[in-house]
Amino acid sequence: MPAVEYRGMTLVIPDNDSEWKEYFAAARAHRLILRACVACGRLRYPPSHGCPWCADLGWTWREVSGRGTIHSYEIVVHAIQPGFRDWAPYPVVLVELDEQRGQPTADEALRIVANLVRPDLRPEAEENVAIGKRVRVVFQDLADQVALPQFTLSDEPPAGRVWRLA
Ligand SMILES: [Zn+2]
Repeated sequence: MPAVEYRGMTLVIPDNDSEWKEYFAAARAHRLILRACVACGRLRYPPSHGCPWCADLGWTWREVSGRGTIHSYEIVVHAIQPGFRDWAPYPVVLVELDEQRGQPTADEALRIVANLVRPDLRPEAEENVAIGKRVRVVFQDLADQVALPQFTLSDEPPAGRVWRLA
């Protein structure tokens, strides 16, 4: 796969990196797919070789809804990557997907790190970010075979208590 430019950075996804190559290609088709263990059935992210819970090496791709809740977040004030300097301050969210919420334990779940963006893919304003708010995945197309899954606030009511980092 040719290198992809993203905010002044060069992203390289090697052809033999089946884990990320297929993940980003599915994202380009605007589908969020995760690996599911064939032994215990649990989904995992990132798409690693082995199951983090039962260590089985068998897996299959499974499409998920892309809906979830902000589990935690941070506001990047000083961007280390030059390509993000004109974005700062911008939110980075840890999203807990609806699939497998609270599984296999209350402390573990299916969580993805991404940017929280507006529907136009610009960063969401800091004052609108809060733990407990509901989000849905959106896809930022970068090239023929690559899109980045990002998240945007949904209009669903929040899940549980909503609070912001002070
Ligand atoms: Zn497993």
